[in-house]
Amino acid sequence: MDYGDRIAEACLQHFRTLPKHGKPREGQQWTVLAAFIKEDKRNSLNVVALGTGTSCLGSSQMCKDGRMVHDAHAEVIARRAFIRYLYFELMKIHMKDTGTSTIFTLDKETGCCKLREGIRFHFYVTDPPCGDATIFPIMTTIPKEDGCQLDEFCAKRRKICENTISRDLLFNDTNRTGAKCVPGEKQDPHHTGSGYHEIGSLRTKPGRGERTHSMSCSDKIMRWNVMGWQGSLVNLFLSSPIYISVIVCGPNSNLSALERALVGRIDKPKITALLKETKFVTSAPQIITSSCVFQYQKPYYGSDLKPCGSAVAWSDVPQNAHAVIAKTGFRLGTTRKSQHLPQASSCISRVNLLKLFMKIFSALHSNYLICRKISEQDSCVSYGDYKNLSEEYVQTWQKLRESCFSNWLKHNLCFDNFTV
Ligand SMILES: [Zn+2]
Repeated sequence: MDYGDRIAEACLQHFRTLPKHGKPREGQQWTVLAAFIKEDKRNSLNVVALGTGTSCLGSSQMCKDGRMVHDAHAEVIARRAFIRYLYFELMKIHMKDTGTSTIFTLDKETGCCKLREGIRFHFYVTDPPCGDATIFPIMTTIPKEDGCQLDEFCAKRRKICENTISRDLLFNDTNRTGAKCVPGEKQDPHHTGSGYHEIGSLRTKPGRGERTHSMSCSDKIMRWNVMGWQGSLVNLFLSSPIYISVIVCGPNSNLSALERALVGRIDKPKITALLKETKFVTSAPQIITSSCVFQYQKPYYGSDLKPCGSAVAWSDVPQNAHAVIAKTGFRLGTTRKSQHLPQASSCISRVNLLKLFMKIFSALHSNYLICRKISEQDSCVSYGDYKNLSEEYVQTWQKLRESCFSNWLKHNLCFDNFTV
């Protein structure tokens, strides 16, 4: 089995061992699966975090208290589950009776952790991430003599008429994404066939009717390949960001589109100059494809299967490893009346991840250099205040956005204004 298939199979096998709760209904629904895999010195592969999901809430449905999951695409759910895993590994370093971390070692002077020698992380996703990575040339078969006009066909391209092969035409087309270009970027020309999309543009995720405020998964992964996959809060505890070594993408993906969207779009010399004297780098993970088919693989076209509304998150942690999130952004089974209760919020919501952060923060030994930050903690009230303690992260991203991704949607700070 080749390397990509070994990684894919480890993730698919792990998914099969999870409870049925939150998984798609067999023969009726599809979903996307993403996962993080740890590879150690002996080259053994272990899944440490996993996510499934296809939905994203529109701007009007978002809430400001950090208790909902707004973006439930598999890649984003898996990354939150990965951050949760990292917090539990950090607890093993900083808190008594929590076990030994298999991934981190501690620098006793600074109090920062770094990855153990030989530990690498890989990322797997069953479908190309939404946005730029899904735009690539395809050949579509059009029935020639069924009265179906080309434009009409393009509008209904997923409803291919049944026809005999001898009468079919091959037609240069583009695989489509529902992710819309953000204002200021080059917009899609929407021409017939291969001229439908603009490549390279920053995009927002497709939503049901209403426009979402979430950047596409292709854009987010491109950002994580520079800023690290650990986020701003975990960054505070680490001497270097966590980068991914290999990205594996399932069938129905196109290698050159993946390379362009996830790595190639960035202006490397410009960004490298900008990152000078910071701990960030322009990482270039190896990108490979795998032909392993997921049991609930998204149908390519012409199918009655519906996207599964719920999302599954799993982390390799000792408590509440498995969570299911409903389309509402709360845990599956939460009624409208019970949404205000603490248990309505899933373990990967921002409020619950902040709680893990604060647990570690308050357990840090006061001799560490990073504990200077603790004195500043007194002035911290909100999630946003804690994020701002990660100064290098915040400033680097700001510089990067201003000079390279100026159309990236501004994160509305009102969503960071909650406390725990
Ligand atoms: Zn996505």
